[in-house]
Amino acid sequence: MKKKFQNPESLVRKQVRSLNEYIPGEQLAVEGLIKLNTNENPYPPAPQVLKAVKDATDARLRLYPNPTAQKLRERLAQFHNCEPDNIIVGNGSDELLALATRAFVEPSAACKEKSKTIVQYFYPSYSLYPVLADIHGASKNPIKLNSDFGIPDINELKKKWIFDAALSYITTPNAPSGHGYSVKELEQFCGLNSGVVILDETYVDFAEENALSLAFKYPNVIVSRTFSKAYSLCFLRVGYFVGNPVIIGAMQKIRDSYNVNGLGQIAATATLDNLDYYRHNFERIKISRSKLTGALKELGFLVFPSQTNFILVEPPIYPAEVWLEKLKRRKILVRWFNQTGIKHYLRITIGAENEIDSLIKAAESILNEK
Ligand SMILES: *Cc1c(COP(=O)(O)O)cnc(C)c1O
Repeated sequence: MKKKFQNPESLVRKQVRSLNEYIPGEQLAVEGLIKLNTNENPYPPAPQVLKAVKDATDARLRLYPNPTAQKLRERLAQFHNCEPDNIIVGNGSDELLALATRAFVEPSAACKEKSKTIVQYFYPSYSLYPVLADIHGASKNPIKLNSDFGIPDINELKKKWIFDAALSYITTPNAPSGHGYSVKELEQFCGLNSGVVILDETYVDFAEENALSLAFKYPNVIVSRTFSKAYSLCFLRVGYFVGNPVIIGAMQKIRDSYNVNGLGQIAATATLDNLDYYRHNFERIKISRSKLTGALKELGFLVFPSQTNFILVEPPIYPAEVWLEKLKRRKILVRWFNQTGIKHYLRITIGAENEIDSLIKAAESILNEK
């Protein structure tokens, strides 16, 4: 029988056709560009990490890597004082955030028990969460943070938050605001939830506290970490979850057999042998963060307090979108989100000392233009 012509669009699932996909920050290839838009660490990996990757780059690239990232999980277990079974490693934490929807959330169409189908998160926070929910065909329950980006108090939460939602994501410290949450506050909050709660601690190395202890205390709490931002390894894609072995084991069952590339496993393991190098850089970044905060405040910017390697600011005189373009013309790239609630703001990654100085000078010159 002769095949009928098919519009290729019609071959794609409806849900995928109508999907609003995640939009990553621009990766412009402009000579001399100061890139302060995707929260990458301005400092390179430790020399020993680069050496480990180079030394491993030979004929062995033909072999499959260790399927469970065994060595890395053992080193992480030592580092966090737990067992390797508490840890799953992913192709960046993004992969694990997606796997969590598949492991813990029922697609809406297949399930009558509403709470089992719900992916819940605060906004503004990481804009990938709603996309992951949509890909999976889950229901979404976005809840607005307070205007200072704090978690709404319990009486407010009771109005909208679904305490038995299958999966809740919390970015802590928050992105894109930089707002930090205390462990005490997070513990109270986690204690109210009966579904899985993922504490996304991508930026925790720049914060005052971390909530790792909650992943050991509560079987439904997972802490998400990554080597990308703080550990200068975005390129190699290594992130991990820490949690209850049963919960982590469920995710192990459904991941790809070789989900973490071999060079990434080697680089992350070597990173754990060189933590002093990174801790020194965290301090430098925090010093630059205070310097930039002070300088921009003097120029009339509103700057939110930050416990991350970026700051959220409301610029003076021109709308944020105009500032984005004016800075781009001066070869400085920052992030502007065309999203309700945060349109007036720019998110600026804390760069190296010279990059921060250039940004301050550029802001001064933009303000002197008139
Ligand atoms: C960058 C980022 C991630 C993803 O990190 P990868 O490990 O590189 O996938 C996750 N959550 C937040 C809040 C981020 O900003």
